Amino acid sequence: MRQKLVVGNWKMNGSLQANQSLLKELSAGITDACGVAVAVCVPFPYLAQAQALLAKTSLAWGAQNLSEKDSGAFTGEVAASMLRDFACRYVLVGHSERRTLYGENNALVAEKFAAALAGGLQPILCVGETLAERETGKTGEVVAKQVAAAIDRAGIAAFSKAVVAYEPVWAIGTGKTASSAQAQEVHAAIRAQVACADVKVAEGLQILYGGSVKPSNAAELFGMPDIDGGLIGGASLVASDFLAICQAA
Ligand code: 13P
Repeated sequence: MRQKLVVGNWKMNGSLQANQSLLKELSAGITDACGVAVAVCVPFPYLAQAQALLAKTSLAWGAQNLSEKDSGAFTGEVAASMLRDFACRYVLVGHSERRTLYGENNALVAEKFAAALAGGLQPILCVGETLAERETGKTGEVVAKQVAAAIDRAGIAAFSKAVVAYEPVWAIGTGKTASSAQAQEVHAAIRAQVACADVKVAEGLQILYGGSVKPSNAAELFGMPDIDGGLIGGASLVASDFLAICQAA
């Protein structure tokens, strides 16, 4: 049985003051007894705050991006080792906003995926198609290529320490959620693709759904056989909504 995982992606939101009350409410509401693993991926400057407030709680924390490089003259970049200094467990790689707004392609995302693993972090590999790709019947092909790039770079065994998040680009921040059947179809295809290389790794792989997950649709999505939790954007900034989503998992 795979454990359910719910991860909040704060994106470029927050302040010391707002984070303090949000993290306090979340840590009060989530205990090991909930049976669901929960993490928040916060902006880099707030990692120290997340570490200080969450260290003795049931919540894990992580970052939203990392450099594919270890160290050196790469102004503005943040290395995996730096994230480990703040005891991050997770790091998002290849979020669609990184791919579309900052030009990250499959090859770079695969490098970041490998760098995260080499640095002792659990990468959450984000994949998903645009609306145009879905409408032209390319969803399967696009997602398979995104997953294959990471498998080719890091090897299939890497997926026993990684998480995959399927986030259809057209469902992110739009209020349009993929139906549970649409999401399940892609999740099953990702698991089948991993199973072609290693059945055991595929069985253990947590595949999260992201894109307009709310308290009202979480239970149905998380009830699908290949949906192992969620990657939550907007609703992760509101404690009551995020807690309700975690409870649905
Ligand atoms: P929303 O939940 O705001 O649609 O964002 C999803 C997302 O991009 C999480 O990474």
